[in-house]
Amino acid sequence: MIAGQLRQGYYQASGTVLLRKEASRGGRSLLLFLRGFGPLWAGAPSAGGKNRFGGGAEPMVWGSFSLYQSPSRLYLQSVDVKEDFLQLRGSPAALACAARLYRLTADEAPSGCENDGLLRALWSAAVQLRAGALPAAVEFRYMWKLLAVMGTAPSLGYCAGCGEKLARGGLFTDEGILCGRCAAQAKGAHLSERELLALRAAASLPHDKFVEWASKCAGEEIFAANIKKLSSYFRNLL
Ligand SMILES: [Zn+2]
Repeated sequence: MIAGQLRQGYYQASGTVLLRKEASRGGRSLLLFLRGFGPLWAGAPSAGGKNRFGGGAEPMVWGSFSLYQSPSRLYLQSVDVKEDFLQLRGSPAALACAARLYRLTADEAPSGCENDGLLRALWSAAVQLRAGALPAAVEFRYMWKLLAVMGTAPSLGYCAGCGEKLARGGLFTDEGILCGRCAAQAKGAHLSERELLALRAAASLPHDKFVEWASKCAGEEIFAANIKKLSSYFRNLL
């Protein structure tokens, strides 16, 4: 965040800690993702060499953050922890998935502007992982939503070439998913109808239905392959 972007004063907002960096002179810098503000960096000064925020200054914690903007810097004053998602530590796959989603958000979400839709999607992803949804399906869903927020998510329903409905699978290229007719000369990964249906379900089912479906669904390899494909869409943004 650009120093001085906020007016000097006190702020309170709910959200989560995306990243933690140890600062050179004790204390920490935290990348917070806050409702109404989006991602922003805040200093979390230590008190006598101790972290005075306890577990509240850790990534994946959700809570209400009290902040102070000085003329030069934004500081964290206190955290009222609402949810720490400690249960995720019981599943290495779920925890690793959550860590990747946090890293992706820290790297890709534009700072300096609110992004409440994405913040809700990140919260939902953590809840879905805790509820036992297949991590690869949660990861695909969240990545697709993050790309959708930026307006660059590939359509899972219509051909990127001609706009026809993708009724029988398609070819996943760097410019979108193409139907059989448009795919003739293109390079990409073939998607069967079954695979495309799974991706569509992951991206578009409402939260509760998604949790129910993704707790029972197989097809981890489908999601793993297409998570890789979606990653190239982030590179397209550079
Ligand atoms: Zn087409």
